[in-house]
Amino acid sequence: MKILCFAVATLLAVNCGSTQVSESTKMESPALPASEESFTNAQRIGEMMNYLASNDLKGREAGSEGIEMAARYIENYLKSYRVQPYFETYRDTLSNFKNIAYNLVGVVEGNDPILKDEFILIGAHYDHIGTINPENGDYIANGANDNASGTISVLEMARYFGAHNTNKRSLIFALFSAEEKGLLGSKYLAKKLKEQELNLYTMLNFEMTGVPMKDKDYLVYITGYEMSNLAEVSNKYAEENLVGFLPTAKEFNLYQRSDNYPFHEEFGVPSHTFCTFDFTNYAFYHKVGDEADLMDYGHMATLVNKTIPVIEDIANAANQEIKLNN
Ligand SMILES: [Zn+2]
Repeated sequence: MKILCFAVATLLAVNCGSTQVSESTKMESPALPASEESFTNAQRIGEMMNYLASNDLKGREAGSEGIEMAARYIENYLKSYRVQPYFETYRDTLSNFKNIAYNLVGVVEGNDPILKDEFILIGAHYDHIGTINPENGDYIANGANDNASGTISVLEMARYFGAHNTNKRSLIFALFSAEEKGLLGSKYLAKKLKEQELNLYTMLNFEMTGVPMKDKDYLVYITGYEMSNLAEVSNKYAEENLVGFLPTAKEFNLYQRSDNYPFHEEFGVPSHTFCTFDFTNYAFYHKVGDEADLMDYGHMATLVNKTIPVIEDIANAANQEIKLNN
């Protein structure tokens, strides 16, 4: 997400001393009720995070060898969980970037003869900024929160629907490249799918979901909260206040700063980003310190486990109930 760095610095300085996720917090993440265990858990999330945000991938800059390693990992992942390539292959080569870069796009076709022709696109960017000015000899911006967290959340959702195919409407899972270069991957894919007249119902993007917010009566916020009734519909299906409104997100116009926005522009359908970065809970945005071991795997697992049933109900509702507000 392209956020004005001074905005982050200002709010962080004001709002919190230490943003370290204490060991105790991670260890104490609430045990998931047995029924949800089948979706994902902290251990799985940790394993995926320790690969995607490892030094080996050198911060996954678009066009780099490091992101190529991430692309292969994601491809194998989608393949192993019966998520089909949306195009000929999973790789959707960008034409709007100077170096070779790929979105990775898979699909789980709906199981309803009519509703399968309606599509929900679930996305996250898997690139980051690569290597930057060294701090204490560390020059790799590992991009754990930005955005290995969102990437892993989307992959775990893809795994669930690939394995269970409980969705009546079709689900596209898209991992975007070159977001850090100006939303280039999502701009390219949105334009291409529009030209192909995709019947897109809604776009759900996941960005920086690695650490929990404090003192909020909701678990995740969406950007562009007032643009549609997505939060209301999500909370109805979650049977709790899962999705909320973050005033700062509106203040900094985050709605236009992540991969949901090109889909808003091309399709004019409800397109929002789910996020748990609130400018106060994480000090390592676009820094070398954005490391895997600062992520709260229990929190990430809880978010995925609570979001999957919501997406399932949205995908299976008789009508398209998520609508843009006038
Ligand atoms: Zn990002």
